[in-house]
Amino acid sequence: MKIQMVDLKGQYEKIKEEINSEIQKVIDSTAFINGPKVQEFASNLSNYLEGVKVIPCANGTDALQIALMALGLKPGDEVILPVHTYVATAEVIALLRLEPVFVDVDPDFFTINVNQIEEKISSKTKAIVPVHLYGQCADMEEIMKIALKYKLFIIEDTAQAIGATYTFSDERTATAGTIGDIGTTSFFPSKNLGCYGDGGAMFIGDSELAKIAKMIANHGQSIKYHHDIIGCNSRLDSIQAAILDVKLKYLDEYSLARQKAADNYNELLQHIEKIRIPQVAKYSSHVYHQYTIVLDEKVNRNELQNFLKEKGIPTMIYYPVPLYKQKAYIKDAGGTFPVTEKLSKTVLSLPIHTEITREEQEFIVSSIRDFLFG
Ligand SMILES: *Cc1c(COP(=O)(O)O)cnc(C)c1O
Repeated sequence: MKIQMVDLKGQYEKIKEEINSEIQKVIDSTAFINGPKVQEFASNLSNYLEGVKVIPCANGTDALQIALMALGLKPGDEVILPVHTYVATAEVIALLRLEPVFVDVDPDFFTINVNQIEEKISSKTKAIVPVHLYGQCADMEEIMKIALKYKLFIIEDTAQAIGATYTFSDERTATAGTIGDIGTTSFFPSKNLGCYGDGGAMFIGDSELAKIAKMIANHGQSIKYHHDIIGCNSRLDSIQAAILDVKLKYLDEYSLARQKAADNYNELLQHIEKIRIPQVAKYSSHVYHQYTIVLDEKVNRNELQNFLKEKGIPTMIYYPVPLYKQKAYIKDAGGTFPVTEKLSKTVLSLPIHTEITREEQEFIVSSIRDFLFG
C-alpha cells in the first residue's frame, strides 16, 4: 500500500483525456498569456461563486497582497489576522509596511477567535484577514458585525476552503470568500481546486474595487502602457486556466469525496482516547483541505509520525512554529497565544484527498492504534 498525503496522479488519471485535450488546445492557440481561456475560467468560477467577480492572478500570496493594495491600505495601518495560519497572510501585510496584529484561534475550530478581535482594534486598524483554515469558514457573521462597527475591510483567505458554505443565523447561506470585501484563493496543486503549477484569484463583489484589483495585477494599467496606479505583474497562465476550468466541474464532487473520507476517519477515530477529531462549527460546512486531529499532550507526536512513516503513512504538521515565534515576525507578537501554542505542539494532519480508500484509512487508523496501545 502506497499512501500519499495528496494523490494528484490518481486524480489526473480519471480526467486525463479532458485535461490533455484542453492543454493541447491552448498550445495550438499559442494564447499562453491572457488568452480567452483565462476569461472563460474566471467567468465559470464567478458563476460558481454566485456572481462575484473573479480576478485571476499568479498565486494565493499575490492575491492577498493585491487585495491589500486595492483597498488602499497605507504603511503603518494595522491588519488583524489569526496567529495559527500559513505565513503568506502575515508576509504580505509586512511587505506592504502594514502592521500585522495577531489574534489567537478558537480551540474547537482553529479559526480566528472572534471574541478576542475587539481588544486588538486600535485607531490604526484598517482590516481583518480571517483565514478559513483546513477547509471550514471562520465565524463570518460575527466578523462582519465587528467590521461594520469599526468600519474595517475584510479579506477572506479562502486558499484552504474553496467551495465551503457559510450559514448565517437567519439561515441565509454564502460561499466561502464571497462574504467580505475581497476573498482570495490559491490554485496550488494540492489545494482543493488545484492546477498543475501556480495560480490564484480574488473574489470581489464591488465592480469598482474589482476594476482596481485587476489593474494592480496588470502593472496598474487598464489601457496598455497607461499606468495609473502602482501595480505588479501577477497573471494566471492560459494552460493553468484550462486545467482549472476542467477541474472546476468536479469541485463539488471532490469536496464530497473529502467529506466522505472525513466521515470514515471520524467513525474510526472517535472513540480513541488521546485523539480529538476535527469539530465542525454549526455555521460552516467543511471541505477538509486537511483532516487535522489534536493529540493528547502526553502523546509523543514525533515518535508517532516516525512510527507511521515506517509503515508508509505520511503525516504533516500545520503549523509547527506559530507565526509569533517566527524570527521574521517575533517583534509583532504583542501578547500570548495559548491555544495556538498548544496546537503547534499537538496537531497532526492525516492523509486526505479525493482518491483515498476506506481500506487505506483503516490501515492508517489501525497503525495509530498500534502506536498508542500496541
Ligand atoms: C496556500 C495558502 C496560501 C498561499 O497560496 P500560494 O498559492 O502558495 O501563494 C495563503 N494562505 C493560506 C491559508 C494557504 O493555505
